[in-house]
Amino acid sequence: MVDVTRIVIIGGGPGGYEAALVAAQLGAEVTVVDRDGLGGSAVLTDCVPSKTLIATAEVMTGFDSSYQELGITLACAAERAISVDLGKVNRRVKRLAIAQSHDITQSVTRSGVTILRGTGRLGPGGQAVDGSREVLVEESDGTVRSLRADAVLIATGAHPRELPDARPDGERILTWTQVYDLDELPRELIVVGSGVTGAEFAGAYQALGSKVTLVSSRDRVLPGEDPDAAEVLEDVFRRRGMNVMSRARAEAVKRVGDRVEVTLGDGTVISGTHCLMAVGSIPNTADMGLEEAGVKLNDWGQVQVDRVSRTSAPGVYAAGDCTGVFMLASVAAMQGRIAMYHALGDAVQPLNLKTVSSNVFTDPEIATVGYTAADVSCGKMDAVEVKLPLRGNPRAKMQGIRDGFVKLFCRPGTGIVVGGVVVAPRASELIHSISLAVDNNLTVEQVASAFTVYPSVSGSTAEAARQLHIRKRAESES
Ligand SMILES: Cc1cc2nc3c(=O)[nH]c(=O)nc-3n(C[C@H](O)[C@H](O)[C@H](O)COP(=O)(O)OP(=O)(O)OC[C@H]3O[C@@H](n4cnc5c(N)ncnc54)[C@H](O)[C@@H]3O)c2cc1C
Repeated sequence: MVDVTRIVIIGGGPGGYEAALVAAQLGAEVTVVDRDGLGGSAVLTDCVPSKTLIATAEVMTGFDSSYQELGITLACAAERAISVDLGKVNRRVKRLAIAQSHDITQSVTRSGVTILRGTGRLGPGGQAVDGSREVLVEESDGTVRSLRADAVLIATGAHPRELPDARPDGERILTWTQVYDLDELPRELIVVGSGVTGAEFAGAYQALGSKVTLVSSRDRVLPGEDPDAAEVLEDVFRRRGMNVMSRARAEAVKRVGDRVEVTLGDGTVISGTHCLMAVGSIPNTADMGLEEAGVKLNDWGQVQVDRVSRTSAPGVYAAGDCTGVFMLASVAAMQGRIAMYHALGDAVQPLNLKTVSSNVFTDPEIATVGYTAADVSCGKMDAVEVKLPLRGNPRAKMQGIRDGFVKLFCRPGTGIVVGGVVVAPRASELIHSISLAVDNNLTVEQVASAFTVYPSVSGSTAEAARQLHIRKRAESES
Protein backbone atom coordinates (compact mmCIF):
# COMPACT_ATOMS: atom_id res chain seq x y z
CA MET A 1 0.00 0.00 0.00
CA VAL A 2 1.27 3.48 -0.88
CA ASP A 3 1.31 5.88 2.06
CA VAL A 4 -0.72 9.03 1.51
CA THR A 5 1.21 12.19 2.30
CA ARG A 6 -0.57 14.57 4.66
CA ILE A 7 -0.18 18.21 3.72
CA VAL A 8 -1.40 21.10 5.89
CA ILE A 9 -1.43 24.58 4.37
CA ILE A 10 -1.83 27.61 6.63
CA GLY A 11 -3.32 30.47 4.59
CA GLY A 12 -5.72 30.20 1.67
CA GLY A 13 -4.48 33.03 -0.62
CA PRO A 14 -2.90 32.34 -4.04
CA GLY A 15 0.17 30.83 -2.34
CA GLY A 16 -2.01 28.44 -0.33
CA TYR A 17 -4.94 27.52 -2.56
CA GLU A 18 -2.87 26.98 -5.72
CA ALA A 19 -0.58 24.70 -3.71
CA ALA A 20 -3.61 22.82 -2.37
CA LEU A 21 -4.90 22.17 -5.90
CA VAL A 22 -1.53 20.81 -7.05
CA ALA A 23 -1.05 18.66 -3.93
CA ALA A 24 -4.54 17.17 -4.30
CA GLN A 25 -3.86 16.39 -7.99
CA LEU A 26 -0.66 14.63 -6.92
CA GLY A 27 -2.68 12.42 -4.57
CA ALA A 28 -1.92 13.97 -1.17
CA GLU A 29 -4.39 14.34 1.68
CA VAL A 30 -4.65 18.11 1.92
CA THR A 31 -6.08 20.48 4.54
CA VAL A 32 -6.14 24.27 4.10
CA VAL A 33 -6.52 26.36 7.24
CA ASP A 34 -7.65 29.92 6.59
CA ARG A 35 -9.11 32.56 8.88
CA ASP A 36 -10.68 35.01 6.41
CA GLY A 37 -11.83 33.14 3.31
CA LEU A 38 -10.21 31.38 0.36
CA GLY A 39 -8.55 33.65 -2.16
CA GLY A 40 -6.89 35.45 0.75
CA SER A 41 -6.09 39.14 0.77
CA ALA A 42 -5.40 38.89 -2.96
CA VAL A 43 -9.07 38.22 -3.64
CA LEU A 44 -10.82 39.81 -0.66
CA THR A 45 -8.97 43.07 0.03
CA ASP A 46 -5.98 43.70 -2.25
CA CYS A 47 -5.49 42.63 -5.83
CA VAL A 48 -9.02 41.82 -7.03
CA PRO A 49 -10.82 44.75 -5.31
CA SER A 50 -8.21 47.30 -6.41
CA LYS A 51 -8.28 46.11 -10.01
CA THR A 52 -12.09 46.17 -10.02
CA LEU A 53 -12.07 49.77 -8.76
CA ILE A 54 -9.42 50.59 -11.35
CA ALA A 55 -11.62 49.10 -14.10
CA THR A 56 -14.10 51.94 -13.46
CA ALA A 57 -11.31 54.52 -13.27
CA GLU A 58 -9.85 53.22 -16.53
CA VAL A 59 -13.10 53.77 -18.45
CA MET A 60 -13.33 57.29 -17.03
CA THR A 61 -9.75 58.31 -17.91
CA GLY A 62 -9.98 56.66 -21.32
CA PHE A 63 -13.07 58.70 -22.07
CA ASP A 64 -11.93 61.98 -20.44
CA SER A 65 -8.53 61.97 -22.09
CA SER A 66 -9.57 61.24 -25.66
CA TYR A 67 -13.22 62.01 -26.36
CA GLN A 68 -12.63 65.53 -27.67
CA GLU A 69 -9.77 64.47 -29.93
CA LEU A 70 -11.81 61.55 -31.25
CA GLY A 71 -14.64 63.87 -32.22
CA ILE A 72 -17.19 62.88 -29.57
CA THR A 73 -19.52 65.66 -28.43
CA LEU A 74 -21.65 65.64 -25.30
CA ALA A 75 -25.29 66.56 -24.95
CA CYS A 76 -24.78 68.36 -21.62
CA ALA A 77 -22.20 70.97 -20.78
CA ALA A 78 -21.47 69.97 -17.16
CA GLU A 79 -18.09 70.91 -15.66
CA ARG A 80 -17.01 67.29 -16.08
CA ALA A 81 -18.65 65.07 -18.66
CA ILE A 82 -18.92 61.96 -16.49
CA SER A 83 -19.04 61.25 -12.76
CA VAL A 84 -19.05 58.22 -10.53
CA ASP A 85 -21.35 56.71 -7.89
CA LEU A 86 -18.67 55.38 -5.54
CA GLY A 87 -21.15 53.52 -3.34
CA LYS A 88 -22.29 51.55 -6.37
CA VAL A 89 -18.71 50.95 -7.54
CA ASN A 90 -17.71 49.68 -4.08
CA ARG A 91 -20.73 47.39 -3.83
CA ARG A 92 -19.69 45.88 -7.17
CA VAL A 93 -16.09 45.55 -5.94
CA LYS A 94 -17.17 43.62 -2.83
CA ARG A 95 -19.67 41.47 -4.73
CA LEU A 96 -17.04 40.39 -7.25
CA ALA A 97 -14.49 39.67 -4.52
CA ILE A 98 -16.88 37.49 -2.55
CA ALA A 99 -18.01 35.69 -5.71
CA GLN A 100 -14.42 34.94 -6.64
CA SER A 101 -13.63 33.66 -3.14
CA HIS A 102 -16.71 31.44 -3.43
CA ASP A 103 -15.60 30.09 -6.84
CA ILE A 104 -12.15 29.27 -5.45
CA THR A 105 -13.69 27.55 -2.39
CA GLN A 106 -15.83 25.42 -4.70
CA SER A 107 -12.98 24.36 -6.96
CA VAL A 108 -10.69 23.59 -4.01
CA THR A 109 -13.44 21.58 -2.30
CA ARG A 110 -14.23 19.72 -5.55
CA SER A 111 -10.60 18.67 -5.78
CA GLY A 112 -10.96 16.83 -2.45
CA VAL A 113 -9.19 19.33 -0.18
CA THR A 114 -10.49 19.85 3.37
CA ILE A 115 -10.95 23.51 4.29
CA LEU A 116 -10.87 24.54 7.94
CA ARG A 117 -11.91 28.05 9.00
CA GLY A 118 -9.57 29.14 11.80
CA THR A 119 -6.15 30.47 12.76
CA GLY A 120 -3.27 28.08 12.32
CA ARG A 121 0.15 27.86 13.97
CA LEU A 122 2.90 25.27 14.25
CA GLY A 123 2.63 23.06 17.32
CA PRO A 124 5.33 23.38 20.00
CA GLY A 125 6.68 19.86 19.71
CA GLY A 126 8.91 20.27 16.61
CA GLN A 127 9.35 17.29 14.32
CA ALA A 128 8.05 13.90 15.52
CA VAL A 129 10.04 10.66 15.12
CA ASP A 130 8.12 9.84 11.95
CA GLY A 131 9.14 13.27 10.54
CA SER A 132 5.63 14.71 10.86
CA ARG A 133 4.74 18.07 12.38
CA GLU A 134 1.82 19.32 14.39
CA VAL A 135 -0.39 22.22 13.30
CA LEU A 136 -2.77 23.74 15.82
CA VAL A 137 -5.95 25.31 14.53
CA GLU A 138 -8.00 27.67 16.66
CA GLU A 139 -11.56 27.89 15.41
CA SER A 140 -13.84 30.92 15.90
CA ASP A 141 -15.49 29.38 19.01
CA GLY A 142 -12.07 28.96 20.65
CA THR A 143 -11.84 25.20 20.04
CA VAL A 144 -8.28 24.14 19.26
CA ARG A 145 -7.71 21.18 16.92
CA SER A 146 -4.45 19.39 16.36
CA LEU A 147 -3.51 18.15 12.89
CA ARG A 148 -0.50 16.07 11.87
CA ALA A 149 1.28 16.77 8.61
CA ASP A 150 4.17 15.26 6.69
CA ALA A 151 4.71 18.69 5.17
CA VAL A 152 3.41 22.11 6.17
CA LEU A 153 3.15 25.14 3.90
CA ILE A 154 3.09 28.59 5.51
CA ALA A 155 1.24 30.96 3.14
CA THR A 156 -0.16 33.54 5.52
CA GLY A 157 0.42 36.68 3.44
CA ALA A 158 0.88 40.17 4.86
CA HIS A 159 -1.12 43.11 6.17
CA PRO A 160 -0.82 46.91 5.73
CA ARG A 161 1.97 48.59 7.70
CA GLU A 162 0.81 51.36 10.05
CA LEU A 163 2.88 54.30 11.26
CA PRO A 164 2.69 54.92 15.03
CA ASP A 165 1.46 58.51 14.53
CA ALA A 166 -0.89 57.76 11.67
CA ARG A 167 -3.34 55.16 12.91
CA PRO A 168 -6.13 54.38 10.43
CA ASP A 169 -9.67 55.02 11.76
CA GLY A 170 -11.47 53.37 8.83
CA GLU A 171 -13.37 56.60 8.03
CA ARG A 172 -10.94 59.36 7.08
CA ILE A 173 -7.55 57.77 7.63
CA LEU A 174 -7.62 54.57 5.64
CA THR A 175 -5.58 51.55 4.67
CA TRP A 176 -6.08 50.04 1.20
CA THR A 177 -8.32 47.36 2.71
CA GLN A 178 -10.76 49.97 4.12
CA VAL A 179 -11.44 52.15 1.09
CA TYR A 180 -14.26 49.92 -0.18
CA ASP A 181 -16.49 50.97 2.74
CA LEU A 182 -16.65 54.56 1.42
CA ASP A 183 -20.04 55.59 0.03
CA GLU A 184 -18.90 58.90 -1.34
CA LEU A 185 -15.87 59.89 -3.33
CA PRO A 186 -13.18 61.57 -1.17
CA ARG A 187 -13.18 65.22 -2.27
CA GLU A 188 -9.51 65.82 -1.38
CA LEU A 189 -7.49 62.64 -0.99
CA ILE A 190 -3.94 62.57 0.32
CA VAL A 191 -2.15 59.34 -0.61
CA VAL A 192 0.92 58.64 1.52
CA GLY A 193 3.39 56.37 -0.29
CA SER A 194 4.28 56.39 -3.97
CA GLY A 195 5.14 52.75 -4.50
CA VAL A 196 2.94 50.58 -6.71
CA THR A 197 -0.07 50.58 -4.34
CA GLY A 198 0.08 54.34 -3.67
CA ALA A 199 0.48 55.18 -7.36
CA GLU A 200 -2.38 52.87 -8.42
CA PHE A 201 -4.82 54.34 -5.90
CA ALA A 202 -3.70 57.94 -6.52
CA GLY A 203 -4.26 57.52 -10.27
CA ALA A 204 -7.58 55.73 -9.79
CA TYR A 205 -9.11 58.27 -7.39
CA GLN A 206 -7.93 61.14 -9.54
CA ALA A 207 -9.67 59.52 -12.52
CA LEU A 208 -12.83 59.04 -10.44
CA GLY A 209 -12.87 62.76 -9.62
CA SER A 210 -10.97 63.26 -6.31
CA LYS A 211 -8.44 66.05 -5.97
CA VAL A 212 -5.34 64.00 -5.16
CA THR A 213 -2.08 64.84 -3.38
CA LEU A 214 0.56 62.11 -3.58
CA VAL A 215 3.16 62.27 -0.82
CA SER A 216 6.38 60.57 -1.90
CA SER A 217 9.42 60.27 0.34
CA ARG A 218 11.62 59.63 -2.72
CA ASP A 219 12.79 61.75 -5.66
CA ARG A 220 10.13 60.35 -7.92
CA VAL A 221 7.07 58.12 -7.87
CA LEU A 222 7.53 54.35 -8.27
CA PRO A 223 11.15 54.25 -7.08
CA GLY A 224 11.36 50.50 -7.77
CA GLU A 225 10.27 50.73 -11.41
CA ASP A 226 12.00 51.60 -14.68
CA PRO A 227 13.01 55.30 -14.31
CA ASP A 228 11.77 56.28 -17.80
CA ALA A 229 8.42 54.65 -17.06
CA ALA A 230 8.14 56.39 -13.69
CA GLU A 231 8.95 59.71 -15.37
CA VAL A 232 6.15 59.24 -17.90
CA LEU A 233 3.67 58.42 -15.15
CA GLU A 234 4.68 61.31 -12.92
CA ASP A 235 4.37 63.68 -15.88
CA VAL A 236 0.89 62.32 -16.70
CA PHE A 237 -0.18 62.61 -13.04
CA ARG A 238 0.93 66.24 -12.86
CA ARG A 239 -0.63 67.17 -16.23
CA ARG A 240 -3.94 65.78 -15.01
CA GLY A 241 -3.74 68.02 -11.95
CA MET A 242 -2.33 65.74 -9.25
CA ASN A 243 -0.18 67.41 -6.61
CA VAL A 244 2.87 65.13 -6.50
CA MET A 245 5.07 66.04 -3.51
CA SER A 246 8.54 64.49 -3.88
CA ARG A 247 11.11 64.06 -1.08
CA ALA A 248 8.30 64.61 1.42
CA ARG A 249 8.10 62.09 4.25
CA ALA A 250 4.80 61.91 6.16
CA GLU A 251 5.53 61.81 9.90
CA ALA A 252 2.02 61.96 11.34
CA VAL A 253 -1.61 61.93 10.23
CA LYS A 254 -4.43 63.09 12.45
CA ARG A 255 -8.11 63.69 12.15
CA VAL A 256 -9.39 67.21 12.70
CA GLY A 257 -13.19 67.13 12.63
CA ASP A 258 -14.22 66.08 9.16
CA ARG A 259 -10.75 66.62 7.74
CA VAL A 260 -7.31 65.09 8.06
CA GLU A 261 -3.95 66.75 8.54
CA VAL A 262 -0.70 65.20 7.37
CA THR A 263 2.49 66.54 8.95
CA LEU A 264 5.59 66.18 6.79
CA GLY A 265 9.19 65.78 7.94
CA ASP A 266 9.97 69.49 7.40
CA GLY A 267 6.99 70.53 9.54
CA THR A 268 4.69 71.39 6.62
CA VAL A 269 1.07 70.43 7.29
CA ILE A 270 -1.19 69.48 4.39
CA SER A 271 -4.90 69.07 4.76
CA GLY A 272 -7.51 66.99 2.94
CA THR A 273 -10.82 65.23 3.51
CA HIS A 274 -9.27 61.73 3.53
CA CYS A 275 -5.85 60.10 3.75
CA LEU A 276 -4.89 56.73 2.31
CA MET A 277 -1.82 55.13 3.86
CA ALA A 278 0.19 52.98 1.43
CA VAL A 279 3.49 52.59 3.27
CA GLY A 280 4.20 48.92 2.73
CA SER A 281 3.17 45.73 4.45
CA ILE A 282 4.11 43.48 7.35
CA PRO A 283 4.30 39.67 6.94
CA ASN A 284 1.74 37.65 8.91
CA THR A 285 4.34 35.56 10.74
CA ALA A 286 4.01 36.68 14.38
CA ASP A 287 2.72 34.28 17.06
CA MET A 288 2.79 31.30 14.74
CA GLY A 289 5.38 29.22 16.54
CA LEU A 290 7.72 29.58 13.56
CA GLU A 291 11.02 30.42 15.23
CA GLU A 292 10.33 27.87 17.99
CA ALA A 293 10.01 25.26 15.21
CA GLY A 294 13.33 26.30 13.67
CA VAL A 295 11.91 28.46 10.86
CA LYS A 296 14.29 31.37 10.29
CA LEU A 297 12.81 34.83 9.79
CA ASN A 298 14.73 37.88 8.58
CA ASP A 299 14.79 41.29 10.32
CA TRP A 300 11.46 42.21 8.71
CA GLY A 301 9.81 39.04 10.00
CA GLN A 302 9.70 37.43 6.54
CA VAL A 303 10.20 33.66 6.29
CA GLN A 304 13.54 32.80 4.68
CA VAL A 305 13.09 30.35 1.81
CA ASP A 306 15.20 28.83 -0.93
CA ARG A 307 14.17 28.58 -4.59
CA VAL A 308 12.07 25.46 -3.96
CA SER A 309 10.23 27.18 -1.07
CA ARG A 310 11.98 25.24 1.71
CA THR A 311 12.41 27.03 5.03
CA SER A 312 15.22 26.26 7.47
CA ALA A 313 12.97 23.71 9.25
CA PRO A 314 12.69 20.28 7.61
CA GLY A 315 9.18 19.60 6.30
CA VAL A 316 8.14 23.25 6.55
CA TYR A 317 7.74 25.25 3.32
CA ALA A 318 6.63 28.84 2.81
CA ALA A 319 5.18 30.76 -0.11
CA GLY A 320 3.90 34.20 -1.01
CA ASP A 321 3.97 37.55 0.75
CA CYS A 322 5.03 36.07 4.09
CA THR A 323 8.38 35.34 2.40
CA GLY A 324 8.71 38.80 0.82
CA VAL A 325 10.39 37.24 -2.23
CA PHE A 326 8.38 39.18 -4.83
CA MET A 327 5.00 40.38 -3.59
CA LEU A 328 2.76 39.29 -6.43
CA ALA A 329 -0.13 36.87 -6.54
CA SER A 330 1.47 35.07 -9.50
CA VAL A 331 4.74 34.55 -7.62
CA ALA A 332 2.91 33.40 -4.46
CA ALA A 333 1.04 30.81 -6.53
CA MET A 334 4.24 29.62 -8.23
CA GLN A 335 6.10 29.34 -4.90
CA GLY A 336 3.19 27.34 -3.47
CA ARG A 337 3.08 24.94 -6.43
CA ILE A 338 6.87 24.51 -6.36
CA ALA A 339 6.70 23.68 -2.64
CA MET A 340 4.19 20.91 -3.33
CA TYR A 341 6.12 19.48 -6.31
CA HIS A 342 9.17 19.33 -4.05
CA ALA A 343 7.40 17.95 -0.98
CA LEU A 344 5.62 15.28 -3.02
CA GLY A 345 8.68 14.23 -5.03
CA ASP A 346 7.46 15.52 -8.40
CA ALA A 347 9.71 17.13 -11.04
CA VAL A 348 10.43 20.65 -9.87
CA GLN A 349 11.96 23.73 -11.48
CA PRO A 350 13.34 26.21 -8.93
CA LEU A 351 11.72 29.67 -8.90
CA ASN A 352 13.20 31.95 -11.57
CA LEU A 353 12.44 35.58 -10.77
CA LYS A 354 13.98 36.80 -14.01
CA THR A 355 11.01 35.61 -16.01
CA VAL A 356 8.32 37.15 -13.78
CA SER A 357 6.15 39.72 -15.53
CA SER A 358 4.50 42.40 -13.41
CA ASN A 359 2.29 45.39 -14.00
CA VAL A 360 1.47 48.71 -12.38
CA PHE A 361 -2.25 49.30 -13.03
CA THR A 362 -2.09 53.05 -13.55
CA ASP A 363 -3.03 54.96 -16.69
CA PRO A 364 -0.86 54.36 -18.66
CA GLU A 365 -0.02 50.92 -17.26
CA ILE A 366 3.63 49.95 -16.73
CA ALA A 367 4.44 46.31 -17.47
CA THR A 368 7.88 44.84 -16.93
CA VAL A 369 9.62 41.51 -17.43
CA GLY A 370 13.15 40.22 -16.99
CA TYR A 371 16.30 42.24 -16.43
CA THR A 372 15.80 45.96 -15.80
CA ALA A 373 17.60 49.23 -16.55
CA ALA A 374 18.93 49.09 -12.96
CA ASP A 375 20.39 45.60 -13.59
CA VAL A 376 22.14 46.93 -16.72
CA SER A 377 23.46 50.11 -15.11
CA CYS A 378 24.88 48.28 -12.05
CA GLY A 379 26.60 45.73 -14.32
CA LYS A 380 24.49 42.75 -13.24
CA MET A 381 23.53 42.19 -16.88
CA ASP A 382 25.39 43.22 -20.03
CA ALA A 383 22.63 44.34 -22.37
CA VAL A 384 21.80 46.96 -24.98
CA GLU A 385 18.43 48.68 -25.06
CA VAL A 386 16.10 50.37 -27.45
CA LYS A 387 13.17 52.57 -26.43
CA LEU A 388 10.41 53.43 -28.91
CA PRO A 389 7.94 56.12 -27.85
CA LEU A 390 4.34 55.25 -28.71
CA ARG A 391 3.98 58.69 -30.33
CA GLY A 392 5.35 57.05 -33.49
CA ASN A 393 2.99 54.05 -33.43
CA PRO A 394 0.15 54.31 -35.99
CA ARG A 395 -2.48 52.57 -33.81
CA ALA A 396 -1.58 54.74 -30.82
CA LYS A 397 -2.02 57.86 -32.98
CA MET A 398 -5.44 56.67 -34.16
CA GLN A 399 -6.47 56.04 -30.57
CA GLY A 400 -5.20 59.39 -29.33
CA ILE A 401 -2.50 57.77 -27.15
CA ARG A 402 0.51 60.04 -26.65
CA ASP A 403 2.21 58.79 -23.51
CA GLY A 404 4.20 55.60 -23.29
CA PHE A 405 6.86 53.51 -24.94
CA VAL A 406 8.15 50.02 -25.59
CA LYS A 407 11.65 49.24 -24.34
CA LEU A 408 13.59 46.04 -25.07
CA PHE A 409 16.88 44.80 -23.62
CA CYS A 410 18.99 42.20 -25.44
CA ARG A 411 22.43 40.64 -24.99
CA PRO A 412 24.97 42.47 -27.19
CA GLY A 413 26.53 39.38 -28.81
CA THR A 414 23.70 36.91 -29.23
CA GLY A 415 20.75 39.29 -29.41
CA ILE A 416 18.85 37.18 -26.86
CA VAL A 417 16.01 39.22 -25.35
CA VAL A 418 16.56 39.51 -21.58
CA GLY A 419 13.95 42.06 -20.57
CA GLY A 420 11.43 44.66 -21.56
CA VAL A 421 9.12 47.42 -20.39
CA VAL A 422 5.83 48.51 -21.93
CA VAL A 423 4.20 51.76 -20.88
CA ALA A 424 0.80 51.96 -22.54
CA PRO A 425 -2.89 51.46 -21.93
CA ARG A 426 -3.29 47.68 -21.40
CA ALA A 427 0.46 47.18 -21.14
CA SER A 428 -0.41 44.15 -18.97
CA GLU A 429 -1.71 42.44 -22.12
CA LEU A 430 1.09 43.66 -24.39
CA ILE A 431 3.99 42.41 -22.23
CA HIS A 432 3.23 38.74 -22.91
CA SER A 433 5.11 38.56 -26.21
CA ILE A 434 8.23 39.90 -24.46
CA SER A 435 7.66 37.44 -21.58
CA LEU A 436 7.60 34.58 -24.07
CA ALA A 437 10.82 35.86 -25.63
CA VAL A 438 12.55 36.16 -22.23
CA ASP A 439 11.30 32.79 -21.02
CA ASN A 440 12.42 30.99 -24.19
CA ASN A 441 15.68 32.87 -24.83
CA LEU A 442 14.37 34.16 -28.17
CA THR A 443 16.62 36.50 -30.14
CA VAL A 444 15.63 39.94 -31.41
CA GLU A 445 15.67 38.44 -34.93
CA GLN A 446 13.04 35.87 -33.88
CA VAL A 447 10.87 38.52 -32.22
CA ALA A 448 11.21 40.81 -35.23
CA SER A 449 10.29 38.11 -37.74
CA ALA A 450 6.94 37.19 -36.13
CA PHE A 451 3.95 38.90 -37.75
CA THR A 452 2.13 41.58 -35.80
CA VAL A 453 -1.25 42.95 -36.78
CA TYR A 454 -1.22 46.27 -38.66
CA PRO A 455 -2.02 48.64 -37.08
CA SER A 456 -1.33 47.54 -33.51
CA VAL A 457 0.51 48.82 -30.46
CA SER A 458 2.35 45.48 -30.30
CA GLY A 459 3.87 46.44 -33.68
CA SER A 460 6.21 48.61 -31.59
CA THR A 461 7.62 45.50 -29.88
CA ALA A 462 8.55 43.99 -33.25
CA GLU A 463 9.94 47.35 -34.40
CA ALA A 464 12.08 47.64 -31.24
CA ALA A 465 13.43 44.14 -31.94
CA ARG A 466 14.21 45.15 -35.54
CA GLN A 467 16.10 48.20 -34.39
CA LEU A 468 18.14 46.13 -31.92
CA HIS A 469 18.89 43.64 -34.72
CA ILE A 470 20.10 46.44 -37.01
CA ARG A 471 22.23 47.92 -34.25
CA LYS A 472 23.72 44.51 -33.47
CA ARG A 473 24.56 43.97 -37.17
CA ALA A 474 26.15 47.42 -37.46
CA GLU A 475 28.23 46.75 -34.34
CA SER A 476 29.42 43.36 -35.61
CA GLU A 477 30.41 44.93 -38.98
CA SER A 478 32.33 47.80 -37.43
C1 LIG B 1 -3.59 46.95 -3.06
C2 LIG B 1 -2.87 45.77 -3.62
C3 LIG B 1 -3.04 45.42 -4.94
C4 LIG B 1 -2.38 44.32 -5.46
N1 LIG B 1 -2.53 44.03 -6.77
C5 LIG B 1 -1.88 42.97 -7.31
C6 LIG B 1 -2.01 42.66 -8.69
O1 LIG B 1 -2.68 43.36 -9.43
N2 LIG B 1 -1.36 41.57 -9.16
C7 LIG B 1 -0.59 40.78 -8.36
O2 LIG B 1 -0.02 39.79 -8.83
N3 LIG B 1 -0.45 41.06 -7.05
C8 LIG B 1 -1.08 42.13 -6.52
N4 LIG B 1 -0.92 42.42 -5.19
C9 LIG B 1 -0.12 41.53 -4.35
C10 LIG B 1 -0.93 40.28 -3.99
O3 LIG B 1 -2.17 40.67 -3.42
C11 LIG B 1 -0.14 39.43 -3.02
O4 LIG B 1 1.12 39.18 -3.55
C12 LIG B 1 -0.87 38.11 -2.76
O5 LIG B 1 -2.05 38.36 -2.06
C13 LIG B 1 0.01 37.16 -1.96
O6 LIG B 1 -0.67 35.97 -1.77
P1 LIG B 1 -0.45 35.08 -0.45
O7 LIG B 1 -1.06 33.78 -0.75
O8 LIG B 1 0.96 35.15 -0.05
O9 LIG B 1 -1.23 35.84 0.71
P2 LIG B 1 -2.68 36.43 0.89
O10 LIG B 1 -3.38 36.67 -0.40
O11 LIG B 1 -2.47 37.59 1.79
O12 LIG B 1 -3.46 35.29 1.67
C14 LIG B 1 -3.07 34.88 2.95
C15 LIG B 1 -4.25 34.25 3.66
O13 LIG B 1 -3.76 33.66 4.87
C16 LIG B 1 -4.68 33.93 5.92
N5 LIG B 1 -3.96 33.84 7.19
C17 LIG B 1 -3.01 34.67 7.68
N6 LIG B 1 -2.55 34.20 8.85
C18 LIG B 1 -3.22 33.06 9.11
C19 LIG B 1 -3.18 32.11 10.15
N7 LIG B 1 -2.32 32.21 11.17
N8 LIG B 1 -4.02 31.06 10.09
C20 LIG B 1 -4.90 30.93 9.04
N9 LIG B 1 -4.97 31.79 8.03
C21 LIG B 1 -4.13 32.84 8.06
C22 LIG B 1 -5.18 35.33 5.59
O14 LIG B 1 -6.38 35.57 6.24
C23 LIG B 1 -5.33 35.23 4.07
O15 LIG B 1 -6.60 34.70 3.75
C24 LIG B 1 -1.55 43.54 -4.64
C25 LIG B 1 -1.37 43.89 -3.29
C26 LIG B 1 -2.01 45.00 -2.79
C27 LIG B 1 -1.79 45.39 -1.36
